[in-house]
Amino acid sequence: MRTLLIASLLLASAAGAQAPSTLGLPRDARIAAALADVSPARLRALDSVLVSFGTRHTMSDTVSNTRGVGAARRWIYSQLQQYSRDCGGCLKVEYDTGTAVITRHIERPQWPIVNVVAWLPGRDPNRVIVMGGHFDSCVCSSPNPMDATGDAPGADDDGSGTVAVMELARVVGKHFPQGLDATIAFVLYTGEEQGLLGSTQFAERLQREGKTVTAAFTDDIIGNVVADDGRVDSTSVRVFAVDSLASGGGELARYVWAIGAVYQPDFEVLPVLRLDRLGRGGDHAPFHRTGVPALRFSERLENYKRQHLVTDTFEHVNFGYIAKVARLNLATVVSLAAAPSRPVRTAYSRDRASGGQSFNIRWDTVPGVIAYELLVRRTTAPTYTRIVPTGNVTSFLLDEQLDDVWVGVRAVGPNGHRSLTTVVGAPNGPRLPNPPRTPQP
Ligand SMILES: [Zn+2]
Repeated sequence: MRTLLIASLLLASAAGAQAPSTLGLPRDARIAAALADVSPARLRALDSVLVSFGTRHTMSDTVSNTRGVGAARRWIYSQLQQYSRDCGGCLKVEYDTGTAVITRHIERPQWPIVNVVAWLPGRDPNRVIVMGGHFDSCVCSSPNPMDATGDAPGADDDGSGTVAVMELARVVGKHFPQGLDATIAFVLYTGEEQGLLGSTQFAERLQREGKTVTAAFTDDIIGNVVADDGRVDSTSVRVFAVDSLASGGGELARYVWAIGAVYQPDFEVLPVLRLDRLGRGGDHAPFHRTGVPALRFSERLENYKRQHLVTDTFEHVNFGYIAKVARLNLATVVSLAAAPSRPVRTAYSRDRASGGQSFNIRWDTVPGVIAYELLVRRTTAPTYTRIVPTGNVTSFLLDEQLDDVWVGVRAVGPNGHRSLTTVVGAPNGPRLPNPPRTPQP
């Protein structure tokens, strides 16, 4: 009887009746150990320094060492350099410089845009995962949105994301000083409040340099837990991504959702399949525009009376909450960086022997992997409900009617980490050419 029960349970899971919320992603003990090092006290200390610069407006003072955007970026740079020294020089810290026209300013000036980047080089220097936040602040909701001298504390927007990304650079560098498979760029952007200028500059640079961006994330407004009407939420976070089958934004959201279930099951990930909140934007958008899977992390409850105003102050930021978001960031970024690339191109054909009820699925080889998996979901399902191991092959006869479902293919690395999924036959997605037809005798 007992054996029978176990057998039927196994059958049920083999048939995919129960959705595996973790999507079969492994729990890596090294990642779990790193998560414990993310420190709310450090996040608090960092944000208190950021706020002390008075304003970090993109057009504010760059000469003073105590006030303005120049002082802020030099301090961020020096902190990241210290983290690098602490991990034996594992991080390459640099300014990413350029200029942009501030189109929202009445005089449309050409202005220097200076981001700060800490690179953790991976085995593959050309494959990059971007983890960013913006350190510029503004009082854009005040009567003078271009006020570059008055106080603009930006403790939450986006002091919260800035300190999370800095802490990630420290902890990931400390625990993975040799780097991972992919290269990670921890980026602190400026010019966000003037139209995503810093992230646009960095996304275009990576494209120009021929990098393949596996995923781009931004932490933006991740430290508020009390809404203006008094409701409180410190147990969930929203992730915003466009459910584009071709570029894979929705696949990335499902990945983050699953990683949350693996490493931090008490902290709910709420995937929202749109680029951003209504009428708002963030530093993941320029990457989305270049066809990269891109995603924004934001607090569950925003307080609109403290955004882009002098009221965005330090005492309203919850650093325990930021730490939870940062741990989700860390597990996501390191898992993806430890995983292989996903297959680029796919193809399918109807299987004649089954009367067209099964499909032959094919995909590109990914170097260095040990296996592949096919994941299946109904077109109306929020995430995948069936995982089919294929072994180390690049074509597989799948017993699914492909007309009725979405199928994703992913690569499995020797360490067990899984790549993002590529949707088979995604409209406008890259296709493998059809094999030459076998000549009939
Ligand atoms: Zn922001």
